[in-house]
Amino acid sequence: MEQATGIKYKLSGLLESALAKRGTVLYVLRHYAGMYEVRVHLPETKMESWNKPQHIKCKVAAGRYRDYTPAVWDPITKSCSLFIDTSHEGPGSEWARSLRSGDPLVYLGIDSYGKAPLDTAEQVYFGDPSAIGHFFALMQLTNGLGKISGSIIVQHEQHREAFEASFPSLSIDTVCSTEALAASSPLISDAPDRQFYLAGNSMMVHSLRKLLKQQGVAAHKIHAQGFWK
Ligand SMILES: Cc1cc2nc3c(=O)[nH]c(=O)nc-3n(C[C@H](O)[C@H](O)[C@H](O)COP(=O)(O)OP(=O)(O)OC[C@H]3O[C@@H](n4cnc5c(N)ncnc54)[C@H](O)[C@@H]3O)c2cc1C
Repeated sequence: MEQATGIKYKLSGLLESALAKRGTVLYVLRHYAGMYEVRVHLPETKMESWNKPQHIKCKVAAGRYRDYTPAVWDPITKSCSLFIDTSHEGPGSEWARSLRSGDPLVYLGIDSYGKAPLDTAEQVYFGDPSAIGHFFALMQLTNGLGKISGSIIVQHEQHREAFEASFPSLSIDTVCSTEALAASSPLISDAPDRQFYLAGNSMMVHSLRKLLKQQGVAAHKIHAQGFWK
């Protein structure tokens, strides 16, 4: 067992030395309990070519990597923000909480996922706090055009207030559960030019997608990304 773990770490060490890229943490903001914004400088990145959401595979501990979505990027300074939900325990959460200005960031690569968002009149975002970066990225990719609405599922009431105060530019409300969203949101219905973007917990994304389809929303208008199980 110990030998197998040793081999695994040696292999990931070899992979890392072959592929790893480096950046630097510029600053860390704690928006509210559990929600960190890590602003990073990534000198090797060509952000001007980003036309879809991206994910960066960050080294969070020896042999451990986690995906996060770069948001609010600036191709000139080659900097972007990672909005990291640390409301649970895991190596990624522990890593994010430990970061300080000037720390090195090691990552295996950055790649796109999903499709380029459409410049439609109305974009509806449904997700959990792990999807904030994804939603900011969609806003940037559509140049802030169109009407944005939707809901973020934040379980604790005090965090819901803090969320809305922290992210006023993300003009979407908060609800306490998928069930509450399904029961109360007038947005769970079809409308011309309305596109739906779902991201976060895979079960939540799956059930919201199913619900939207039951309400007659065509599959091509639902863009779903399961981030974690
Ligand atoms: C393409 C892509 C983009 C992503 N972008 C982001 C992003 O921008 N910001 C972000 O915060 N996450 C993002 N994620 C999700 C992130 O990679 C996972 O949440 C990851 O599992 C966190 O690692 P961890 O080490 O903290 O927890 P893990 O060790 O992976 O999990 C530990 C436990 O915590 C639970 N858990 C994991 N994540 C959450 C969560 N968010 N809330 C509650 N419980 C959780 C797991 O079910 C497990 O039980 C993205 C994932 C993908 C695939």
